[in-house]
Amino acid sequence: MRLFVAVTPPSSALAELADATALLHALPDAGRLRWAAPDTWHFTLAFLGEVDEGLLPELTERLGRAAHRHPAHELWLARGGRFGDRVLWAGAEGDVGVLGELARSAAAGARRAGAGVDESRAFHPHLTLARATGRVSLRPYAEALADFRGSPFRVGRLELVRSRLPGSGVPGERPRYETLAAWDLRT
Ligand code: ATP
Ligand code: MG
Repeated sequence: MRLFVAVTPPSSALAELADATALLHALPDAGRLRWAAPDTWHFTLAFLGEVDEGLLPELTERLGRAAHRHPAHELWLARGGRFGDRVLWAGAEGDVGVLGELARSAAAGARRAGAGVDESRAFHPHLTLARATGRVSLRPYAEALADFRGSPFRVGRLELVRSRLPGSGVPGERPRYETLAAWDLRT
């Protein structure tokens, strides 16, 4: 099964960002981007890819331990950015260092449980808003979010999420995320 480890902002924070992105949908070419639905926005802390179901007990054990080692902390959604002209995202500010430590622990725990997690790339907290094929410049979209600052919220929970990629062939169908387990951070 395809798995990733994530943190999900509260719906109030996602609603603020959704309001801010409403303007982006009016930009030219917005219809050529594949937009992620606000109720699916999340921070991916570690991407595990295909994981054998038999690894789940040890994986959940190790992720739970990783969660309990790091304190609950505060973030706010802020600014837009892009990975080239492929991915448009919203960033975060606040205790991003704590979030980064949590991400490192989650990746290390998953690797020790036998998941083939990629720990080579630096952690860059972001919520993916839209994906493009490369023929649309994402610069104006990122710039339109430059002044966005959301309200602070508490990050208190780490989640293990299953992703089911679109399989039905229905155009525009999005992957389905399902939270398999969640742990409170240290309080
Ligand atoms: P789609 O692949 O259809 O665009 P998706 O990216 O949301 O949808 P997944 O590919 O299952 O669904 O990814 C789940 C999460 O993991 C997303 O946040 C995605 O950005 C992230 N992710 C996917 N692949 C990688 C990767 N190779 N490295 C880091 N993060 C990844
Ligand atoms: Mg993907």
